[in-house]
Formats: sequence, structure tokens, C-alpha cells
Amino acid sequence: MTTPLADQAADEQQLLSRVRDLAAGFAAEAAGYDERAEIPLEALDALHAAGVTRALLPAYLGGTGLSYRAYGELVRVVAKADPSVATILTMHAGAGVALAELTHDTLGDFFAQEFLAGKRFANALSEPTSGNRFLIPQQEALAAEGGWRLDGAKRFVSASEIADYLLVNALVDGVPTFFGVAPDESVAIIPIWDTLGLRATRSQLLSFNQTLLRADYRGRALLPTDFQIIPAGLPAISLGVADAALAALADHAATRVILGAPLSHQQWVQHATADAAVRLAAAHALYDQALRLADEGNPAYFGGLIQAKYLANKVAVDVAQLGVRVGGASGYLKTSPIQRHLRDAEAGQLMAYSTEVLATEIGKQVLGVTEEG
Ligand SMILES: Cc1cc2nc3c(=O)[nH]c(=O)nc-3n(C[C@H](O)[C@H](O)[C@H](O)COP(=O)(O)OP(=O)(O)OC[C@H]3O[C@@H](n4cnc5c(N)ncnc54)[C@H](O)[C@@H]3O)c2cc1C
Repeated sequence: MTTPLADQAADEQQLLSRVRDLAAGFAAEAAGYDERAEIPLEALDALHAAGVTRALLPAYLGGTGLSYRAYGELVRVVAKADPSVATILTMHAGAGVALAELTHDTLGDFFAQEFLAGKRFANALSEPTSGNRFLIPQQEALAAEGGWRLDGAKRFVSASEIADYLLVNALVDGVPTFFGVAPDESVAIIPIWDTLGLRATRSQLLSFNQTLLRADYRGRALLPTDFQIIPAGLPAISLGVADAALAALADHAATRVILGAPLSHQQWVQHATADAAVRLAAAHALYDQALRLADEGNPAYFGGLIQAKYLANKVAVDVAQLGVRVGGASGYLKTSPIQRHLRDAEAGQLMAYSTEVLATEIGKQVLGVTEEG
């Protein structure tokens, strides 16, 4: 007889196996979606059909629940194939699961049911003036009939053009407060999205014009026990990009022949690749350790995820830059995946919290610097 834990592990492995199968198709399409800056809808629908949505929703909300280890692996696999799909998935699930959790005690299972039904969610948190500190909104929502009204903007909202619901935060009586918003005509898209990397996320600027933040869609504050989809997913996006960049580098080095020998036979390529591969393995291990702590309910997991994102973001850029060196001019062509991995790797360290903000957190912790002194 199997135990519930063994059953859960078996279910997770089956889910991961389905996602790995799908990922091969995502990888084949990634360059086209990137070139067109088009949201990969088919990939998102395929992940939903494969049971990913149900697995991401914690069991007490009607999902099947997923361990942090399995979640991290899932995002890594998808990100290696197409990091735009992984970013949209992370943001969608982060917003959907957060709204289901934050409104559970007041609204019941409304957002959980919408999430399970395949409705699309997006995170509208970043503001023009809060910089990277997306959990410290500066925009005040003013009391109005039925809730509060928001006049302002949210930026870089991944896949907002297809969202049925947005997770929005604003100040209510000076306190950062979360709301679910079904975008109506008061929410306008300012189409500025034309970036270097993660182009298929179409992370647009949204303008809110007296948008009603409904009182019944108001959420509670975040708790450390909530499923931390975004902090746990972001390192995996960079690790997936780095894995893809390393694979592209190795493929190029093996097939490019210079003066009768493959590039992979040159010692500088071997040494530089060894350095990149070992540092990438260390970044994976740091991430796995943080996920394990999270599954054990050890509060140290949060510091671990911060360190994991910092290292993953930096290593991804390093590996991708080495790819450009090894790729030479042919890797610099638009037809080569090498240049795309570099563009995508750069985006990882911009996404909040950026490596600069994380470095401040980690440095303060190591040096024992507190608010007091
Ligand atoms: C591909 C992509 C997808 C995204 N998706 C979403 C999404 O779905 N939802 C969402 O809400 N946001 C999203 N974002 C926004 C992102 O998470 C950041 O909040 C946003 O990029 C920060 O603003 P900024 O890029 O203008 O950088 P700025 O904040 O202007 O940063 C400029 C520089 O200042 C540094 N800096 C900023 N603040 C601080 C600080 N407090 N201390 C020290 N240094 C600081 C930064 O590290 C950076 O080096 C996305 C961003 C990208 C690139």
C-alpha cells in the first residue's frame, strides 16, 4: 500500500513528465514568438490542459497542491524551452493563487474556482514611482461607493492583454492593500512593449482611470505560509535560460569546425565552459536547497530563495555571455538561439527584486546591518 506522500510524489512525477513532453514543442516555437513579441497562447492552454493549474492551487482551495521542489522543477523545464511562457505562467499563477488565498476567508472560493476554470490572471503591482519595491505601492486609492477608486498606472504587467483578472495593490488609508480587478473600460493598455528580452511576455503598461477596487475583492495581507509562487518561481526562470544557453553553447562548440577541429577541442573553450557549468550547477543546488527548506516549512527558505535568485540571475548572464564568445559572429546572427538567450538572461536580473535590491538584502544580513544601525 502506498502512503499519501508517495502518491503525491508519483502524481508530481507524472505531471512533470507531461510538462517535459510539452516543453519540446515550446522550444521549437520560442524563437518565432520572441520575434513577433506574441503571447504563446497555445503553450499556456496546453499547460492548463496538462493539469498544471489544478496542481498549482493548494489543496485547501480545491487544487491538488504541489511541493516547492516539483514546482521549481516545472518552471525550470518550461523556462529552458521558452522563458516567456515560464514568466507568464509564474505571474499568472502567482496572481491567481494569491487572490484565491487572500480572499478565501472573506469571499470564499470565487477566485479559486475562476483559476481552476482556466481564467487568466496577471500581476499589476509595479508602479512608476516604487521602482523595484513592488510590494510598497505609492498610489493611494480613495474611498468610493462599493470600495475604492484608483487613478494611476502599473507597469510591466506580463500578459495583461489576455488577463481576466489583475492582482493590484494600492494604499488604502496609507496601508498597502491587495485587490482583484476584472479589467473594464477604466483600465487602458499603453502599448509600449517592444523590449530586447522576454519579448513574448508582452509586459505592458496599464493606466487605471478611476478604476473601482471592489470592497468584496479586497484581500488580506500576505502571510509567510502562503504558497510563494513568484519568489519560488523567479530563480527557475533564470536557471532555465542558463540551461538553454549552455546547451546552445555546447551544440555550437561541437559543430563549428575551425582549421580541421571542432571548437570544443580548444582548451580555452573547455576551461571557460567548465567554469560556467560548475557555477550553474552550484546555482541549481542553492535553489534546490531553498525549495527543500520551503517544503519542510523552515522559515530560512525565504532567505535561501533570495540568494538563489541573485546567483541564478548572475550566472544566467555569465553563461549567455560566454555563449556569445563561443558563438562568434554566427552566434550573433538573429537566426541563432545564442543571442536570444543573452537577451532573455538580462531580463531575469531586472525583474523584481533586481540583483541590486537583493544584494542590499543579502549584504545587510551578512553584515548584521539593521534599521536601527
Ligand atoms: C520581463 C519582465 C516582466 C515583468 N513582469 C511583471 C509583472 O507581471 N507584474 C509586475 O508588477 N511587474 C513586472 N515586471 C516589473 C519588474 O518586476 C520590476 O518591478 C520593474 O522592472 C522595476 O522597474 P524598472 O525596471 O523601471 O527599474 P527601476 O526600479 O527603475 O530600476 C533601475 C535601477 O535601480 C535599481 N533599483 C531600483 N529600486 C531600488 C532600490 N529600492 N534599491 C536599490 N536599487 C534599486 C534597480 O536594481 C536597477 O538597477 C516585469 C519586468 C520585466 C523586465
